[in-house]
Amino acid sequence: MIIAVDGPTASGKGTIAKQLAAHFGLPCLDTGLLYRAVGYQTWLNGGDPDSEADALAACTFADELLDDPELRTEETGGLASRVSVHPGVRKALFERQRAFAEQPGGAVLDGRDIGTVIAPDADVKLFITASVQERARRRWLEMTGREIEIPLAEIEQDVVARDARDINRKDAPLKAAPDAMVIDTTSFDRDQAFEVVLEAVEQHLGGNT
Ligand code: C5P
Repeated sequence: MIIAVDGPTASGKGTIAKQLAAHFGLPCLDTGLLYRAVGYQTWLNGGDPDSEADALAACTFADELLDDPELRTEETGGLASRVSVHPGVRKALFERQRAFAEQPGGAVLDGRDIGTVIAPDADVKLFITASVQERARRRWLEMTGREIEIPLAEIEQDVVARDARDINRKDAPLKAAPDAMVIDTTSFDRDQAFEVVLEAVEQHLGGNT
């Protein structure tokens, strides 16, 4: 069984993907981490993330980079969103994601284009969203928890800028697949969101058997 979990930045899709993977006993791939690794490697190389050639040269990053805590920072998220607009970069990362999706027994993948491009054949497609204000608030809480002082307004601006880049890029833009279940988690906490998602998934699977 393949489960595709897409959605904008800080929508909670990563947490939901991990919870679903644990529930169904499936491996989980955070595909944003691959784009983050390319963005960060481009920076390490002294390259320009807006140059397709520089970003492509960074697609051969070493696997150990995926464990680097630097990949989780806001700055790297910004680099990732810039390198991810290049069609060559998306192509270079395609096979790795597709192979993960196709492994025996199935998998959960979260990202922006899983249900539309990487696994259009997924058994379950979810599009997790929440308001800009709520997503900025969640990110702000997470960052202040890690003792990173940053004004909420600055995070909100970043969320809006990343949404715009992800939605407006030509290749594999962020959008819900026509057959995706769209779930807005604005008014839910983490547990409530998972409860709603699980109910929708189980209903979907029940209806398909
Ligand atoms: O999900 P995360 O915030 O880690 O993703 C970082 C960036 O990588 C996103 O803003 C998006 O531009 C890009 N991305 C993508 N396609 C994916 C996953 C992430 O373009 N499947």
